[in-house]
Amino acid sequence: MPICVISGYNFPAMSKTIFQKIIDREIPATIEHEDDQCIVIRDIHPQAPVHLLIIPKRVVARAAEATAADEPMLGHLFTVAALLAKKLNLGAGFRLVVNSGPNAGETVPHLHVHLLAGRRLHEPLG
Ligand code: AMP
Repeated sequence: MPICVISGYNFPAMSKTIFQKIIDREIPATIEHEDDQCIVIRDIHPQAPVHLLIIPKRVVARAAEATAADEPMLGHLFTVAALLAKKLNLGAGFRLVVNSGPNAGETVPHLHVHLLAGRRLHEPLG
C-alpha cells in the first residue's frame, strides 16, 4: 500500500477516509448533528454511554497538521460540543479527546473530536 509521510510519521495513503465517505453519504452512520462545517456521528465502538465523533468537513489529517487557517473551524468543533452537551443533558460533564499520531492511537487520518460522557470517566488520562 502506498505510504505518505507527514510530520515524520508514516501513514497509509488513503484517497478518501471513512469519515469523508460518511460525509458524502457513501456509507451509513447515525448522525446526531450536521451543519455547514461539521458532522457529528455516533462512534461505532462506543467507549462510554455517549461517544460521539465531531468531524469537520474541512479536512485536516490530524491536530499536528493544523494551521492558523483552521482556527475558526477548530473553534466551531468546541461550540458544537457545547451545543450537543446541552441537547443531550450532559450537565454532569463530558470529555473531549483528539488523538494525533500513532502514539495517541489515531486510526482515522481525518481530524475529529471524541465526545465521551454518560458515566464517570477514568483518570488519569493516558
Ligand atoms: P481515532 O482512533 O481517534 O482515529 O478515532 C477513530 C474512531 O472512529 C474510533 O473510535 C472508531 O471506533 C471510529 N469509527 C471507525 N469507523 C467508524 C464508522 N464507520 N462509524 C462510526 N465510527 C467509526
